[in-house]
Amino acid sequence: MLPFSPPRIDQKIIDAVVDTLKSGWITTGPKTKLFEKKLTEYCGNKNTLALNSATAGLELMLRWFGVKEGDEVILPAYTYSATANVIVHCGAKPVFVDVNADDFNINCDAVKQAITERTKVIMPVDLAGYPCDYDVLQELVQSAEIRKLFKATSPEQALLSRILILSDAAHSVGAIYKGKKAGALTDVTVFSFHAVKNLTTSEGGAIALNLPAPFDNLAIYQALCIKSLHGQNKDALAKTQKGNWRYDIVEAGYKCNMTDISAAIGLVELERYDSDMLVRRKQIFDAYSNFFSGFEWAQVPVYSSADKTSSYHVYQLRINAINEAKRDQIIAAIFDKDISVNVHFIPVPMMTFYRAMGYDVANYPVTFDNYSREITLPVFYDLTDEQVTMVCEAVRDSVLANL
Ligand SMILES: *Cc1c(COP(=O)(O)O)cnc(C)c1O
Repeated sequence: MLPFSPPRIDQKIIDAVVDTLKSGWITTGPKTKLFEKKLTEYCGNKNTLALNSATAGLELMLRWFGVKEGDEVILPAYTYSATANVIVHCGAKPVFVDVNADDFNINCDAVKQAITERTKVIMPVDLAGYPCDYDVLQELVQSAEIRKLFKATSPEQALLSRILILSDAAHSVGAIYKGKKAGALTDVTVFSFHAVKNLTTSEGGAIALNLPAPFDNLAIYQALCIKSLHGQNKDALAKTQKGNWRYDIVEAGYKCNMTDISAAIGLVELERYDSDMLVRRKQIFDAYSNFFSGFEWAQVPVYSSADKTSSYHVYQLRINAINEAKRDQIIAAIFDKDISVNVHFIPVPMMTFYRAMGYDVANYPVTFDNYSREITLPVFYDLTDEQVTMVCEAVRDSVLANL
């Protein structure tokens, strides 16, 4: 069976992990701090905090901004459920909106329609690694008309005095919008380094801070370090310094710090990310698009434009004029040929928990249409050209047998 997206684990990664184990320091320490520094240099934002997941990063930022019961957060219906779950954790209301028919990303007109005086945050998702329309979103939250609606209920909200844009960039490390990388495109960006993501640390995530003046991003980074480690005013490394044993708890914090073992993997991955990982992923995307654009039944994904370059996270093929049941049959046929494929994503309003909250995917027709015709093809570093050809032929034959 051809796997869907195994991580790239070569000798360099293994050596980096072994070195860390032998160093005697395995939790948050020098490697994590170095990874944060390198990520900041790479993305061009202000400060970066490495964590154990993107989910933790998104929730930490909602908490930092003071999002709570009675507040609303706007997000696309087409995303992984983590984006919505963190809003629920804070007691706020997820306000789903529909996505674009061409690129799967949040529809900015729908965002505008959904804004109320309770809206505190917009969480765009760079789906598949393709950046959202950040200029449009930024203009929207800064417009006088939308600012007038904003009701600050925390010191951070008062200081920003508008809706926060918290980007879920779980897919889009290295994606580019108008010459800038994800991380530097909006107020706050959260990356995922989960095992299936482009840049993995096994499990992991990071918050890229890029808040406008008068925010002090370094001070916020330091506050988030404490918030992500029990609310403890000293981390483990600081406590090892001679006589430096006493610590205090300044808030009931969370526990979601990154380990140096994870950071060691991330440092290797980041170093060769542009020169190696993104190059190979683009080749695979191009090979799929070259093959499938020759068929009338195929709709190939958009992954570059004058303003945007994807990070080539997932290749989302759509089949024209089919329904969900037919798509599922095609997927079964592809699996019968020993090729793993996937669907990115089952829309969040279709999930049992969210249905029970009263959400209905019928209110997001483009999302449902995109989902019901979508098949995600395997893309990973070690996928060979021969395997790409195998995938193309298996998908073509499975579609033709079921149309
Ligand atoms: C993977 C993913 C997440 C969650 O990332 P974790 O690091 O596993 O918490 C969030 N949003 C999207 C869109 C994702 O694909």
